[in-house]
Amino acid sequence: MKKNNWPIVFGPVPSRRLGRSLGIDLTPPKTCSFDCIYCECGKTTRLSIKRELFLDPDKVIWEVDGFFNHYDPSLVDAITFSGAGEPTLYSELGSIIAALKARHPEIPVGVLTNGSLLWDSTVRADLGLADFVIPSLDAPNEELFRTINRPHKELKWDQYLDGLRRFIEEYRGDFRLEILFVKGVNDSDKVISEFRNLLQWLNPKIVEINTISRPGTKPHLQGLPQEQLLKIARTLAPVRCRVVSGYKSKNKYISYSESRIDERIIALLIRRPCVIEEMADSLAIPSDVLKVHLNKLVKDGKICFQHGFYRAVSPLPTS
Ligand code: SF4
Repeated sequence: MKKNNWPIVFGPVPSRRLGRSLGIDLTPPKTCSFDCIYCECGKTTRLSIKRELFLDPDKVIWEVDGFFNHYDPSLVDAITFSGAGEPTLYSELGSIIAALKARHPEIPVGVLTNGSLLWDSTVRADLGLADFVIPSLDAPNEELFRTINRPHKELKWDQYLDGLRRFIEEYRGDFRLEILFVKGVNDSDKVISEFRNLLQWLNPKIVEINTISRPGTKPHLQGLPQEQLLKIARTLAPVRCRVVSGYKSKNKYISYSESRIDERIIALLIRRPCVIEEMADSLAIPSDVLKVHLNKLVKDGKICFQHGFYRAVSPLPTS
């Protein structure tokens, strides 16, 4: 096992669905079973479906403990395994979920996954320990799946769907299936009708209708307006759908800490381009203080401001 050279704990990230979500990144950048056209973390450099022990589990717990030494836990709405890669590729995911739930029983622990490994019973068992799991499904047919998600060549469409359906049947926690719509890619009437049929077969409790809202791998891609998302949600009935709305600021800085501000800003921006208001809120740093740090980081060439978003200049170091 090599020493990690990427920040494991990042954020909290301003999440439209989860509030202030403390991110945990268990895979070396950028290790994923997909290479999605809309990914906010850049191109997948290690396309893999092999589960591995990329990190010492104790190191992860130690880093999370270190974070909570400086940040009031009551300001964290969720601990979420996500980041620049697919978290289920980490072979000890289950034991880390169990350890964090024992240490922070008041904070929901969940996983954002692309759902590609749910056919593996060990992955389903690991995810079964989480309070919430949000897999994604961006296509209702194989051709579109390969166009949008550009999966590892050994991933089979039928196997992917079968794993998703099995997990939906078995999982007892808070399950939400996310569909991310991209303008002109998966939003035609024909595609929505195919989604409707597929969702009736999968039978998820709830589907979250979402769209891209930040610059990703292909900057020309655009999201859908709210009215169109609402129309899609109505078309998918009787499947229960919820349209993901904008991030709601909490405007509470009671645990504001001067500790490692630049490092925390960069660790967040590597994973997600942000605007200043949501960053100030999620990192619990007053905007005026944050602005000073952002200006300095821009001047030093470590971050940039493009298309209305701050973003990191360099991607995560590769292993
Ligand atoms: S969006 Fe998620 S699943 Fe897709 S390439 Fe990026 S990290 Fe992987």
